[in-house]
Amino acid sequence: MNIRKDSYKHQGRRTNLVHHLAASKISDERVLNAFAKIPRHLFLSKDFEERAYDDVALPIDENQTISQPFTVAFQTQALDIKPGEKVLEIGTGSGYQAAILATMGANVYSIERIEKLHLQAKKILMEFSPTVKLFLSDGTLGLANHAPFDKIIVTAAAPKLPDKLLEQLKPGGMAIIPIGDLKQQKMILIKKSVENIITQKELGNFRFVPLIGKDGWQ
Ligand code: SAM
Repeated sequence: MNIRKDSYKHQGRRTNLVHHLAASKISDERVLNAFAKIPRHLFLSKDFEERAYDDVALPIDENQTISQPFTVAFQTQALDIKPGEKVLEIGTGSGYQAAILATMGANVYSIERIEKLHLQAKKILMEFSPTVKLFLSDGTLGLANHAPFDKIIVTAAAPKLPDKLLEQLKPGGMAIIPIGDLKQQKMILIKKSVENIITQKELGNFRFVPLIGKDGWQ
């Protein structure tokens, strides 16, 4: 059990964040409901608890970040998550994005490459989203044993879409991934039609920590 509390103060700040997201082009009620439920401050160290409901990315251990709430909401909304869908996340980080997806009813598989973050996420997700399956490996290779996936979300900056992730996407599925250099990336929404035709759409500029791996940054 987490001894840190989800107080009325935190709940109030969370409600304000949800209103802010709703006013910033996040219109999917299922996404907003998940944000209202998951206590973001408990996925952060105590040092950043006061800022947990500001719409900003914040540091987690190992020089990594928990993404900005708007970015989490934006990627989640773009994927149009439906209950029961099998979703692969690359970059577990704090575990917050995985918890949002699981709260929306997705069957979540999430990969992290840094052991400390993987173990910390395991602990917090056991409490909030015990159905999430966590893996410690190079996410650029996906999870061949569990493929195919209805949806794939990459939460680190990639130089290109890793080939294995495209292979592991179901026909009719969607992937979202920030692609670019290390300073700035374009959010790319990829659709694979039932006839296996790939289409891509650019959804604006974002900034993530690098996706490091065999088919990412070396
Ligand atoms: N989704 C996370 C959350 O909700 O807190 C935020 C992710 S953080 C912006 C990016 C994460 O991707 C980092 O934890 C980093 O270690 C991880 N990462 C980078 N390259 C990776 C790879 N090849 N496989 C798995 N995880 C990777």
